[in-house]
Amino acid sequence: DRIKLSEETHSLNTFTYLPSTESLHELARASTARYADGSPLSPIDGIPISVKANISWLGRPTSASSRMLENYKSPIQADVIDRLIKSGAILIGQTNMDEFGMGSFTANSAFGPSINSYPYLSTTTDTTAIPKLSPGGSSGGSASSVAFRSSFASIGTDTGGSVRLPAAYCGCTGFKPSYGGIPRHGVIPYASSLDTVGLITPTPEDAQLLHTVLRGSSLNDPTSIDTAPNPDPPPPLSSLSVGVPGSYSVSECHPSITKKWIDTASRLSTAGANVTIFDDSLTSIQDSLAAYYVIACAEASSNLAKYDGVKFGSRIRDTTVDFSSEYANTRAEFFGPEVKRRIECGDTVLSKEGTHYSAALQIRNQLREEYSTALKKYDVLLLPTSVSPPISLDSSGSGFDVDQSEMMANDLMTVGASLAGFPAISIPVSEDSDPDFWVGMQVIGRHGDDDRVMSIADQIY
Ligand code: GLN
Repeated sequence: DRIKLSEETHSLNTFTYLPSTESLHELARASTARYADGSPLSPIDGIPISVKANISWLGRPTSASSRMLENYKSPIQADVIDRLIKSGAILIGQTNMDEFGMGSFTANSAFGPSINSYPYLSTTTDTTAIPKLSPGGSSGGSASSVAFRSSFASIGTDTGGSVRLPAAYCGCTGFKPSYGGIPRHGVIPYASSLDTVGLITPTPEDAQLLHTVLRGSSLNDPTSIDTAPNPDPPPPLSSLSVGVPGSYSVSECHPSITKKWIDTASRLSTAGANVTIFDDSLTSIQDSLAAYYVIACAEASSNLAKYDGVKFGSRIRDTTVDFSSEYANTRAEFFGPEVKRRIECGDTVLSKEGTHYSAALQIRNQLREEYSTALKKYDVLLLPTSVSPPISLDSSGSGFDVDQSEMMANDLMTVGASLAGFPAISIPVSEDSDPDFWVGMQVIGRHGDDDRVMSIADQIY
């Protein structure tokens, strides 16, 4: 019913694929039977969960919201989907996203933008006056669906913020593990050294439960790791040391977001936490966006080279031209404008004798060092998830007016943890339960300390 309301009545466009109602009923019946038997398979047994459209689901469409993969059915199954199924989750559908994960607003989907469901939650009748806001991206369909409860949790991917930002905009929790903490096998790559599988849930506690069944290395992904389960209870707020990196306090930051940041820090301080604002040690932040976009585009241009219409993807057949023209025509036809821009940018940075790319790697190493040093002093870092609030659908109603440089600037808060490979979680903060727009606060912790970051976030929440 929630899916019907979201897709048919409100046209939120959160899903790119829904399995048949019969197969959902069958799964639901199977799990009810298990419950009757008194033996749920896991904490998520019987829970309806959606997955982003770039996560391979055997025999189902896996389009990454691209026309290039519009008719593609996955011949493999991602490790995370296997783990969900084994845990008894009901896979409710695939969610809309920015094409191949490139974007921050789900405005770059070949299947049209998704709409943020949050403003629809309090109204049941006249929805025409409701502002049409972006759900964030690239996992915007996932976050919008969780906020609307058309799925109870969603699996997204986060390369530079794509789980945390939409979670923040939709009033949900978004968790990005340490790099490799959840295996990436079967996830359509965007930028392999940054890509992670992340979780969008209503609360940090839900994220912890879901994490228990998805975490851990897999033989299918050599970059996957086992993060430490944290047996100790997390430090109580009264003995927590929280670092507030002042270098993230940029003039572009929206006043309401800055205010929530200060309010959250003060609340923690009042609860007895040792909160320190520090300005000195994260100096690479100013170069982090440039480094992120150089690395992400370079890796994307390499990862997307395989879509030539022959080995993979949609194809324009034309026997009157040679193969390379056929490849070029195919790519020109089926990739969207943002994807083309990223490929061009990647090709450019890689062709300058590697200087941009190696400079970006240097900044990345330095940033990782700086984050590690700061996290030796503090248990966690606290900073907002975004610079700006969600943008609105343009007047034509067909998309969001995206200003490229604003879109990239908005990633400032999230790319640091991605470049460093550290775990980060965005939690919704608001003093009233019905704000005009939600603000997310990020809690970032040490590499491998995923459980602890989540349990600290749960206490801050
Ligand atoms: N907005 C960033 C980008 O466009 C992050 C996207 C992501 O994490 N997939 O690259």
